[in-house]
Amino acid sequence: MKMYESLFNRQKQFYQSGRTKTLSFRIEALKQLKRSIRYYESALLDAMEKDFNKGRAEAYLTEIGYVYNEINYTMKHLEEWAETKKVKTPATHIGSTSKIYKEPYGVTLIIAPWNYPFNLTVAPLIGAISAGNTAILKPSEHTPTVAGVISNIMTLAFPEKYVASVEGGIETNQSLLSLPFNYIFYTGSSHVGRIVMESAARHLTPVTLELGGKSPAIVTKHADVKLAAKRIVWGKFLNAGQTCVAPDFVYADAKIKKKLIHHMKYYTEKFYAEAFKTGTYMNIVNQNHFERLRGLIQGNVVYGGTTRPATLTIEPTIIDDVDFGHDAMQEEVFGPILPVLQFESLDKAILDIRDLPDPLALYVFTDRKSEAKNVIRSIPFGGGAVNDTVFHLVNPHLPFGGRGNSGMGKYHGRYSFDTFTHEKSILHQTTCIDFPFRYPDSKLLGKAI
Ligand code: NAD
Repeated sequence: MKMYESLFNRQKQFYQSGRTKTLSFRIEALKQLKRSIRYYESALLDAMEKDFNKGRAEAYLTEIGYVYNEINYTMKHLEEWAETKKVKTPATHIGSTSKIYKEPYGVTLIIAPWNYPFNLTVAPLIGAISAGNTAILKPSEHTPTVAGVISNIMTLAFPEKYVASVEGGIETNQSLLSLPFNYIFYTGSSHVGRIVMESAARHLTPVTLELGGKSPAIVTKHADVKLAAKRIVWGKFLNAGQTCVAPDFVYADAKIKKKLIHHMKYYTEKFYAEAFKTGTYMNIVNQNHFERLRGLIQGNVVYGGTTRPATLTIEPTIIDDVDFGHDAMQEEVFGPILPVLQFESLDKAILDIRDLPDPLALYVFTDRKSEAKNVIRSIPFGGGAVNDTVFHLVNPHLPFGGRGNSGMGKYHGRYSFDTFTHEKSILHQTTCIDFPFRYPDSKLLGKAI
């Protein structure tokens, strides 16, 4: 018997009882989730500190506070989202009405990465619960203390037959992926995204894949350069660069690059130097990633470059004069190293970025609306911002997701509910009239022949 088959079957049975589908059950489940998170809030902050030295204020803001906001927003709008929707019916269907019924998928699987280990496990769960599904969660094995607290939160809030958290590594994932889930929501690397999709294909299970990629920050000669520098380094070095939508590299107009780097150095020093000096700057999640990142620090390092193997910390680092052949440009950096490239014309920069796999995010800094529009319309990417970084992520009215190499599907706010919901279309036909012309008529057919 497969390792998690019994848990899966218990969830299936519970789902089929119909209990998870009522609105009152779903609202109560969201309330219960919030209560349980509150109970473990302090343990959760300790766990994030233990797993990768994540500061409590940053952890609260980017992980716990974010999740509370999503729960509150969902509870406020759920009744409206879950309503059966009446739609138009063409005149050819006279006498009938058409409706879209909102239906959960059933038993869902949520696989999460380590970089925002709580947020990226629980934010999709809010969607799964709100739509009326059951869920099995698989937090990352690279942040094991957080994974343990997530298990405690779920055990306190829910019976396993409804929501369960499973701890473990790749074998655990493989075992889970062999089961016929009704929906899989995966966040992580593009490499593992392919494995998840292949496994899902065996059961024709629909998937959402929230993946990564090299997200550019384009700075044109018409940008507010000082502000661009400030917002780029903030978004980049937050969470020690281990953010899926962090600007991966800067692509700047040659005319303003020197000034931009000057301000980037100033703000990096201002925001992060003290934390790095005193050992409170977040560390890299494990030895492998630390070694990988250390190898990327090459060339004209204009800020930072210090690495501390004992604590797996890397100083926020800016590298100037980088080209597309540099090692840091071969894969997503996913750490506190920021390569800076320069372009002579914006049109050429657009072509260069279009040659790369579709990024998850793209940022363009310019005060010219026409330039921003040109970039947005010419390059395929998941989502992003004009004159900012990362912030688009926390607007519940904006769907969040990638395309191509950076993923498929979307979530946040209403889009999370929609992701975990099947829209069942129903035509309610009248029995008062029955037009004969829709049926085969042997006399008419004979004439036609
Ligand atoms: P990862 O893909 O290595 O791991 C994610 C999950 O996949 C973990 O739970 C892990 O146990 C599992 N996994 C790993 N190898 C597996 C295998 N061979 N078979 C089955 N399961 C396996 O990703 P990561 O290193 O934890 O996260 C970093 C990546 O995630 C980056 O590329 C980043 O951009 C991306 N990311 C994307 C988003 C987003 O919302 N789009 C958010 C955060 C991170």
